[in-house]
Amino acid sequence: MKELSVQAFDSFDGNVAIQIEDMPALACHQGCAACCDLRVAATAPEILLIAQYIVATRPALFRIGVDLADRVARDAATTSGLDDAQRLALRQPCPFIENGLCLVYRARPLACRGHASFDKAACAEAVVDLDHEALVSMPHFLVRCVVQNALLASLRDAGLAWGLYELNSALNLALTNPDAEATWRAGGDPLASASIAGADALETAATFDAIKFG
Ligand code: SF4
Repeated sequence: MKELSVQAFDSFDGNVAIQIEDMPALACHQGCAACCDLRVAATAPEILLIAQYIVATRPALFRIGVDLADRVARDAATTSGLDDAQRLALRQPCPFIENGLCLVYRARPLACRGHASFDKAACAEAVVDLDHEALVSMPHFLVRCVVQNALLASLRDAGLAWGLYELNSALNLALTNPDAEATWRAGGDPLASASIAGADALETAATFDAIKFG
């Protein structure tokens, strides 16, 4: 779990660094959470890793009055089933934001890593109007797509649930089901009800096969 996600994150970081070598500095900075009210799509290993992180950090965060599992449950109650536009219209910050900082930053999913901008004004436009998504950094977006698809394809090859899930709804499922990780490792899909209906799964599978078999 951890290994799979860390490998994907390392691959993302290494490839993005090469792609943006000659580009200006990012406008993203610590304390800016401008894009953290968008819907986040993540894979099962990323979600299960964040669930582990929340459980491991719970006692320490509890001491400063933060209960991430409770925040996730409350967020899921209001955002489950919303599409991108509905989630954006809610203007509800991600439950991991605290004083502008992401409390799961080291474990944040590829979708968050891949949303970056070189231009603060363009970023502000992109988060109020999804049609302006092209204003975010294309190298980050494209590398995220490549790495995320490689991860999905390898999960499928391994016979594991390989869809994309809405981050907080899926996390709530993982945090409230002690058997979630074991069920997923055994080939089940304990996060199924948080699945994001995106591209047709059969079509995506056919694309993966076409790439693999040439
Ligand atoms: S996980 Fe972190 S980076 Fe991603 S949307 Fe939530 S607060 Fe922002």
